[in-house]
Amino acid sequence: MFALRVISSAKNFAKSVPNISFIKQIHNNKVLHKNKTDDFIDLIIRGESLQFPYVWLRENCQCEECYHSSAQSRILDWSKFDLNVKPKDVSKDQNCLRVTWDDGHSSQYNYNWLKFRGFTPENQKNYSETIYKPKQIAWHTENFEKIFSKHDYSEILSSNEALYNWLYKLSVYGVALIQNTPDSDTAVDAVVNKIGFTKRTHYGVKFVVRQLPNTSNVAYLSSNLQMHTDLPYYEYCPGVNLLHCLVQTASQGGENMLSDCHYTAEYMRVNHPEQYSLLTNIEVEWRDVGVEDGNEFFKLHRAPVICLDRYGEITRINFSIPQRGSHFPMPIELVKPWYEAHSMFLALNQKFAAKFKTKAGDILTFNNIRLLHGRNAYEDNENNVRQLIGAYVDWDEIYSRLRCLKVKLNNEDGIC
Ligand SMILES: [Zn+2]
Repeated sequence: MFALRVISSAKNFAKSVPNISFIKQIHNNKVLHKNKTDDFIDLIIRGESLQFPYVWLRENCQCEECYHSSAQSRILDWSKFDLNVKPKDVSKDQNCLRVTWDDGHSSQYNYNWLKFRGFTPENQKNYSETIYKPKQIAWHTENFEKIFSKHDYSEILSSNEALYNWLYKLSVYGVALIQNTPDSDTAVDAVVNKIGFTKRTHYGVKFVVRQLPNTSNVAYLSSNLQMHTDLPYYEYCPGVNLLHCLVQTASQGGENMLSDCHYTAEYMRVNHPEQYSLLTNIEVEWRDVGVEDGNEFFKLHRAPVICLDRYGEITRINFSIPQRGSHFPMPIELVKPWYEAHSMFLALNQKFAAKFKTKAGDILTFNNIRLLHGRNAYEDNENNVRQLIGAYVDWDEIYSRLRCLKVKLNNEDGIC
C-alpha cells in the first residue's frame, strides 16, 4: 500500500547524513586545527586498530587519585589538569596498557575497558545501541501483530529476564502488553516498583479512567477519545503510560487505537516535506487549566508537534486537540498551513493506527512521547462500568533499569 522500502532506506540515509555533516562542521572549526595527528596512542586490541587521545586517556585514569571507585566518579583536580599532557613511557602487556605521563603520574587501562570506549564509528554505534538507548524500530498497522509483545504479570515480578524483556520491547517498539494482572487497583504498583517509581502529575500518583460527569479531563468521558499524547503541556512530560484494565466495556466500542508517530513522521518527511517542516519547526502552545482534587493547575508548554534533535531524530511527539491552547505563537500567515499539516498528521496516524480491545487483567504500556493513543466511544450500564487504573513512569527510570539489568544479566565488565 505504501512504499515501505523507500521509507526505510530513506531513514537509513537520514541517520547517516546529519552525523557526517555535523562532524564535518566540527572539523572545519579552526579550533580543531590545533589538534595534531600524533596526539594519540595507537593500539591493536584483539585484531582491531584503535586510537585513544592522550588528553582523554589522562582524564580517564582509573587510579585512586583520579577516580573514586565506590562513587564511580572522576575526582581529578581540573585546575591542575594539563590539556597538553604527553606520555613519557608506554608499555603494553597481554591485558593492559600502562602509561607514565610527563608529569610523572602513572595510569593503566584494561583492554576490554578501552575497546568498549573505542572512538571508531562501529564501537560508538555499538555502545549507543546496546547501552545508551536501544534503537527504536517504527511500525504501522500492517506489522503491528508481529511487534506487539505479550508479557506475564507474575513473571515480570519474579524474573529479571522477564522484566528486561518487557522494558526492552517497550523501548524498541514503544508498546507492549502485560497480561494476567490481578484484579486490584494496586496491582500496577508492583510493576512500577520493579522499575522505580511513578511520575506524579496534577492528576495524581495514579489516575482512574472511567466515565465522570463534570470532569476535569476529556479522557473521563465515554464519547470518542481522539488520538493524542498525554500531558503535552508538561515540559517534563511523562514518558510511559501504563493502563491497567480492571473492567472492559461489554458494549460495542471501547477499542484502543495506537499509532507510531515515528512511522507517520517519516512518511511525511519523505512524501510531504513542507507539512513535515511545519510540524517540526513551528511551536504551538499546549495547555491544561483546571482543578483536580482541590488543587488548581495552569500548565503551559510551547513546543512543535514533532520535536527533533540535531541529527534530525525524533525526541518527542506532542499532540492533543483538547489540550492545545488558542494562543498561537506563530506568524499569522503560517496559521492555516500549520492547521493543514496538523490535519494531515492526524489523518495519517488514524490510517496507520492499530486497533484492538484490551481485556480485564491487561496492562497496556506505551511510549507517551512517541505514540498517539485514542479510544472509540462506548456505553456503560449499571452492571458494566468500564474502568482503568493509569500510572506514568519516566524514560529516565526505564532506561536506567534496563542498563542495570543488562549489566546484571550479562555479567558485563567495564561497561559502567
Ligand atoms: Zn591517576
